Amino acid sequence: MSDCLFCKIAAGEIPSNKVYEDGSVLAFRDINPQAPTHILVIPKEHIADSAAQITEGNSAVVAHCFEVIAKIAAQEGLSDGFRVITNAGAAAGQTVPHLHFHILAGVSMAEKLL
Ligand code: AMP
Ligand code: ZN
Repeated sequence: MSDCLFCKIAAGEIPSNKVYEDGSVLAFRDINPQAPTHILVIPKEHIADSAAQITEGNSAVVAHCFEVIAKIAAQEGLSDGFRVITNAGAAAGQTVPHLHFHILAGVSMAEKLL
């Protein structure tokens, strides 16, 4: 999608602080981190605006995102634990309508929402 921020980041048109990249997935540090480690994992292709649009036909890359999340957790040394969040829709706090997964770590989240 030509007007999508994360499509532009995936295409290299907007710079990002990359932590992982392969043919179909990119991970980069969030520009406004909510925890000491805050990384976004995105399918490079705009397969869905959010988790609400994941289907049998496009979910393979979602599975791959989670393989990448496990690799990043090892790479970043997140052995104390981490949280994966995806916001779907404005009421859930989604601001960028390109499917993405937040990896958050480095702070205790045990007392929070989940
Ligand atoms: P969400 O609110 O779940 O849609 O998440 C979007 C995330 O993208 C927010 O945490 C923003 O801080 C982050 N963000 C927005 N613009 C950029 C950017 N140019 N580089 C890295 N992260 C960004
Ligand atoms: Zn996009």
